Amino acid sequence: KDTCENTGIVEECCCDYESINDINGAVLHPLLQELVQTPFFRYFKVKLWCDCPFWPDDGMCRLRDCSVCECPEHEFPESFRKPKDDPVCQEGKPESAVDRTLDAKSFRGWVEIDNPWTLDDETDNGEMTYVNLQLNAERHTGYTGPSARRIWDAIYSENCPRYANGETCPEKKVLYKLISGLHSSISSHIAVDYLLDETTNKWGSNLRLMHDRVLKHFDHVENLYFTFLFVLRAVTKAASYLDQAEYDSGNHVEDLRAQFLIRQLVHDSKLQDACALPFDEAELWQGQGRPILRQQIQNQFRNISALMDCVGCEKCRLWGKLQVLGLGTSLQILFSVDDQGNPDPHLQLQRNEVIALINLLNRLSESLIFVTKTRDTGAIARLAN
Ligand code: FAD
Repeated sequence: KDTCENTGIVEECCCDYESINDINGAVLHPLLQELVQTPFFRYFKVKLWCDCPFWPDDGMCRLRDCSVCECPEHEFPESFRKPKDDPVCQEGKPESAVDRTLDAKSFRGWVEIDNPWTLDDETDNGEMTYVNLQLNAERHTGYTGPSARRIWDAIYSENCPRYANGETCPEKKVLYKLISGLHSSISSHIAVDYLLDETTNKWGSNLRLMHDRVLKHFDHVENLYFTFLFVLRAVTKAASYLDQAEYDSGNHVEDLRAQFLIRQLVHDSKLQDACALPFDEAELWQGQGRPILRQQIQNQFRNISALMDCVGCEKCRLWGKLQVLGLGTSLQILFSVDDQGNPDPHLQLQRNEVIALINLLNRLSESLIFVTKTRDTGAIARLAN
């Protein structure tokens, strides 16, 4: 408990994993699953066509052609057609394509405010795609190899290196733990919804992948829990804002339902009782030199946000952008403090940020369920041997 109070970072001390699993399974997960299906929370706007700012030579922007070619292929001369097995472009695979049947009408804007933690330009214009998240599950897409590896490498080596053993400054741990937790969650979703057989189009769980990428690394699991608690803490801290926001999608009955579910989530989710202090941001950013560190971490997170434009698989880019925006929104809620460490009383969020925040929490909550389920099966124990 002492460690927790001293640093503000919760590892195992304040919430034991069993309590989190119980409350997630019984209360949060069912609530979130219902919430993300409401029209307000299922439509997300995103600029999917990239302008990768880091390695223009990679040819990533060619991906637009291979993702949404709207003309029949036979209209192109042979030399213009994309190679069948392009190792960079994963867009030819049906499982990586994004459903684009919505337009701007599905998305009525709120205020447009700049979030200092992210680099996304939220202006409504012709470059925006309006996506029904329910039709575009985050799952295995076949995006792998040097292109995917390059993104994770750039994130971990340049923008949030793993902190040294014995690091005592909690602020230096936050970013790495958040990204690692998100990475575990992405891997869990790939594992839970995996294309097992391309010829028969058979989908199912890939326990080996789950074991190798997540379960066998204690810190990957721990960081997943950390990220979940961090985002949940942000949602509960923004309770009064979320409570009073207008959930207008044009479908009155469904919007009332969204409002009702949000209220339940922010006020009634029993995690606060079981886990009084999942994350104590008030302890952070207090000491000397901390404002500079905060700026540095903010810059690193903005770089990570920009890196999402380099993700070479459309559906991965969609979920990468959404989840990084959700993390940026959590950081904005929890870390919007002045130099004296006082919280920002005028919190304002964009509609897209709220959608990202709740969908991210749902993804993390699903990952926790999958971790618990697979860890408890004998199959995983056999894989470990
Ligand atoms: P990777 O998952 O690429 O990991 C690379 C290295 O990072 C590992 O070798 C390990 O050293 C380290 N690492 C792994 N996990 C953690 C962790 N939790 N914490 C700290 N370090 C870790 N693929 C899909 O099929 N569907 C998707 O929706 C999808 N979304 C993606 C979104 C983004 C933003 C990115 C960058 C990639 C996405 N991918 C997706 C690709 C996927 O994440 C993997 O990169 C790919 O499956 C190849 O996996 P890998 O075995 O090389 O290990």
